[in-house]
Amino acid sequence: MDFALSEEHRMLKDLIARFVREELLPLEPVVLEREASGQGTLLTAAERAPIDKKSRELGLWGLDAPEDVGGSDLPEVALVGVSEELGKTITPYVFPPDSPNLRMLMVTVNQEQRARYLAPYVRGETISAIGISEPGAGADPSAMTTTAVKDGAHWVLNGRKIWISKAAEADFTILMAVTDKTKGARGGISAFLVDKGTPGFHVLRKIQMIGGHVTYEVALEDCRLPASKLLGQEGQGFAPMQVRLSTKRLEMACTCIGVAQRALDMMCEYAPQRVTFGVPLAERQTIQWWVADAATRIHACRLMAYDAAWKIDQGRDVRSEVSMVKVFATEMAWEIVDQAMQTFGAMGMTKEMPLQLMASSVRNMRIYDGPSEVHRWVVARKLLRLR
Ligand SMILES: Cc1cc2nc3c(=O)[nH]c(=O)nc-3n(C[C@H](O)[C@H](O)[C@H](O)COP(=O)(O)OP(=O)(O)OC[C@H]3O[C@@H](n4cnc5c(N)ncnc54)[C@H](O)[C@@H]3O)c2cc1C
Repeated sequence: MDFALSEEHRMLKDLIARFVREELLPLEPVVLEREASGQGTLLTAAERAPIDKKSRELGLWGLDAPEDVGGSDLPEVALVGVSEELGKTITPYVFPPDSPNLRMLMVTVNQEQRARYLAPYVRGETISAIGISEPGAGADPSAMTTTAVKDGAHWVLNGRKIWISKAAEADFTILMAVTDKTKGARGGISAFLVDKGTPGFHVLRKIQMIGGHVTYEVALEDCRLPASKLLGQEGQGFAPMQVRLSTKRLEMACTCIGVAQRALDMMCEYAPQRVTFGVPLAERQTIQWWVADAATRIHACRLMAYDAAWKIDQGRDVRSEVSMVKVFATEMAWEIVDQAMQTFGAMGMTKEMPLQLMASSVRNMRIYDGPSEVHRWVVARKLLRLR
């Protein structure tokens, strides 16, 4: 058993740590101010352009994309450190393209879709969204009711989607719909590619979430798609969607390691300086235990993340491991950030510090891509041999 990162992957993690320090951390005051004034956290095009240029020059785009479309085809273990380092800043930035949708496209596209969707996506020329959740189907996507019905050489989609991140900006949305009601998740749900501006794809409203995040509600009203927009096999949309979700859940866990590490670093820097009742906070047992427990949990979580990543690279089934690490990481980061906020007293309650945004972003993660309770249920069902 070798716990050491390869030289190449350690250098990549170090490179990203420097990128975060030099390019993303300096933008935090702007992001904090924007969010405090109710305008969300997203970077403007002018703020993004130089960062995109720099990250592209450094070869940080398409890290896990196939080489034949311009990616670096790095294994999952290399990406653990990438997400961890990006998690250390509240400046919202990921290296194009977004990995979860990329992974879903990689296992579904045909030759034509590879050229039309995957290749420009890897080159960072397009933005994508994923439409799974509905007003009546969130934690249980198999209960979705949006339908896609064949009409000659077309599919006609009708239904409602909600909480869809980037739905208004995306060049294309991967949209999940029922193609055979009798089969449900076992052969009755398909994935489609819906281009921006397709008639019948209506973005109804923008929904402000906590942490400056934005989602959208979308209506599909007789949205006609040519047969070529079916992604993967008819009725077989659920398995590639799970590939996407597993990638996202592990990525989220790694981001949480970075969030928690930053909160711990902030506590360690501040606690020796702040004196109450004549004694530095660092000398209080409460703070010492918070610090020791945080370091222990971060260490455990990192090992869990590398274990899951390694198993993914071996092609093994990691549904339980991914559920475990998603729950462990999101709850760990939530509690460690909360303790850091407590350590900072009133300063920790301000919108001048990043802690509240770190907390809100982790709080969101305990809901999306499966709430913690559902992931515990997944783990328990396997152990108890329940269906
Ligand atoms: C910031 C954010 C971004 C999102 N982006 C997207 C996106 O881009 N695309 C998309 O499709 N969706 C997106 N979502 C939706 C997200 O995936 C769903 O919100 C999530 O799956 C939960 O569904 P729900 O909100 O309908 O909760 P429900 O399904 O109503 O569940 C509510 C609560 O019930 C409990 N619960 C549910 N089932 C069980 C169970 N089996 N056992 C025990 N307890 C249970 C849990 O506590 C859960 O939190 C996003 C959500 C958020 C918050």
